[in-house]
Amino acid sequence: MKHFDVAVIGAGFGGLSCALTLAERGAKVAIFERLTYPGGCASTFQRQGYRFESGATLFSGFGEGQLFSEWIERHQMDVRFQTMDPVVELRAGPFVIRVPPERERLIEQFCAFDGAPRSQIRSFFEWQKKVADALWGLFDDPTLLPPFSIQSIFRHIGRSPRYLPLLTAVGQSVGDMLRRHELEKFTPIRAYMDAVCQITVQTSADKAEAPFALAAMDYFFRGTGHIHGGIGQLATALSDTIAHLGKEVFFADPVWKLRPHEKGWNLTSRRQTITAEKVVANLLPANLCNLLGDNPDATQSLTKLNTKVEKGWGAAMLYLGLDRERLDNPEAHHIEMIDDIDRPFLEGNHLFCSVSGTDEPERAPAGQRVATVSTHVKMDQLWKGEDACQANYIDEIHRRMRYTLSLRAPEIAAAKVFEMTASPRTFERFTNRHRGFVGGIPRDAGLHHYLHFSAPEVDTGLFMVGDTVFPGQSTLAVSLGGLRLAESIS
Ligand SMILES: Cc1cc2nc3c(=O)[nH]c(=O)nc-3n(C[C@H](O)[C@H](O)[C@H](O)COP(=O)(O)OP(=O)(O)OC[C@H]3O[C@@H](n4cnc5c(N)ncnc54)[C@H](O)[C@@H]3O)c2cc1C
Repeated sequence: MKHFDVAVIGAGFGGLSCALTLAERGAKVAIFERLTYPGGCASTFQRQGYRFESGATLFSGFGEGQLFSEWIERHQMDVRFQTMDPVVELRAGPFVIRVPPERERLIEQFCAFDGAPRSQIRSFFEWQKKVADALWGLFDDPTLLPPFSIQSIFRHIGRSPRYLPLLTAVGQSVGDMLRRHELEKFTPIRAYMDAVCQITVQTSADKAEAPFALAAMDYFFRGTGHIHGGIGQLATALSDTIAHLGKEVFFADPVWKLRPHEKGWNLTSRRQTITAEKVVANLLPANLCNLLGDNPDATQSLTKLNTKVEKGWGAAMLYLGLDRERLDNPEAHHIEMIDDIDRPFLEGNHLFCSVSGTDEPERAPAGQRVATVSTHVKMDQLWKGEDACQANYIDEIHRRMRYTLSLRAPEIAAAKVFEMTASPRTFERFTNRHRGFVGGIPRDAGLHHYLHFSAPEVDTGLFMVGDTVFPGQSTLAVSLGGLRLAESIS
C-alpha cells in the first residue's frame, strides 16, 4: 500500500494551493479529485464544443508580488492574465457604474451624480481605504495570516497602528457605516454596496460585517481581471505543476472512505487504498462527515460548521453561446446587473455575467463566444419542497434571469444562440458539494468571525481547507488558506 506524508481530497483552489505549497516544501503529497479536471467551482468545463467557466469568473491576486503572479512566475506557468477597464460594469435601472481599476476614478463617478453628497462620499472612501489597506496587507503577505509564528506576532505588533481603523468597524454592518457617513439615502452607493457585498461576502450591505465587506470593496483595484481561456487554465497549471514536482495527482478518483490508522489515516478512493500521515479535506463539512463514518468527535464539530454553511446560498446558472457578430465589445468583460434595486439581490433580480473575448476562439464553436451568468438561490426555499416544487422554483429563477438579462444587457440576450442551465443540484452532482451550497459562509455582522482564524483540525492530523474556513470566500482567499495550512503542516 502506498504511503504519503499528506493526502489532499479535492482539487478545488483550496486543495490545489495546499498541495502545491506542500510539494514545493518537498513533502510526499497526493491529491485526489473526483472529476477529470481541476478547479471545482472555479473550473472550465467542456460541453458541446463550448468551454464554460463553471462558477467563478473574476479573479484577484495577479498584481505584482501577489500570490498567483508569484506562482506563475516561479513555475513558468502558461497562464495569461488580462487586466480590464472597466473591471465590471454595474447596470441598475436608474444608473450605470463602470467600475474602473482605480479607486479615484470610481469616486469621481459617484461624485458626478446629480445631488451627490461629495464630501461624505470622499470621507467614506478615505476611511474605507484605511480599513481595506489593513486587511489586504494580510492577503498580500500571507506570512501575516494565521497560524502565527513568533516573527509574525512581532510584525503584527509593529503594524498595529494600521489596524486601528478596523476597530471603528468591527462587529458593525456596512449599512451602519453608510448611515454614519450620511450616505444611506444616496442610491448609487447604496446599490453599489449591496452588489459588491452580495458577490463577495455573500450578504446584503445591511447585514454584512463591515471590515470584510469594506476590504472586499477593494477587490476591483488589486490585481483583478480575466484569465485568458478561462480560470480552468490556472487550475490546470497548478495541478500540472504539482505533477511536475513529482507528486501524485489522481483525477476521476473520488475518495469514498477515511479511517484513522496507526500511520495516520487510511483513505479509500474509487481506484485505490493508501495511507497518509495527514489528510487535508477540500470539502464541505457535511461531505467530510460522510467519509468519516462513525467518528463522534469530528462529527460534532463538522455538524456545527455545517449549520453555518446551511445559512448560505446556492447558484442558478445560464451558460450561453453568443453570436460574436452581434457583440460590439471585443474584449472579455463582466456585467453585473440588477432589475429592481429595492428588492433582494437574489433569484434572478441580480446577475453576474462574464463574456469571453474574441481573442479566445477556442472557447466556442466558430463565430461564437461564451458567457457564464449566475444568480443567488435561497436554499431553504429550494429544499423545503418536493421535487416538482424545486423544479418550479428553479425554472422561475431561470425565467427571471433571462428577463433581467434582456432588460439590462439586451445586446447579450439578442446574441444568444445556445443556452444551458444549471442549479444547486448541478453543483452537487459535479463538485459533490452538499446540497449544492456554494460561496462559503455569509459574513453577516458579528464578532464570531474573529474567533476562528485557523483551518480546523477536525481530528488528529485531519484538516479542512476551502471556502468554509478562514479566510473563506473567493479563489484568492481559499488559495491563501491552502497555502497557510500547508505551511503550518510542513
Ligand atoms: C456561481 C459562482 C460564482 C463565483 N464567482 C467568483 C468570482 O468571480 N471570483 C472568485 O474569486 N470566486 C468566485 N466564486 C467563489 C469561488 O469559486 C470559491 O470560493 C472557490 O472556488 C471554492 O474553492 P474550494 O477549493 O473551497 O472548493 P471547490 O471549488 O468546491 O473544490 C472542491 C473540489 O473537491 C472535489 N471533491 C469533492 N468531493 C470529493 C471526493 N470525495 N473526492 C475527491 N474530490 C472531491 C470537487 O470535485 C472539487 O473539485 C464563485 C462561486 C460560484 C459558485
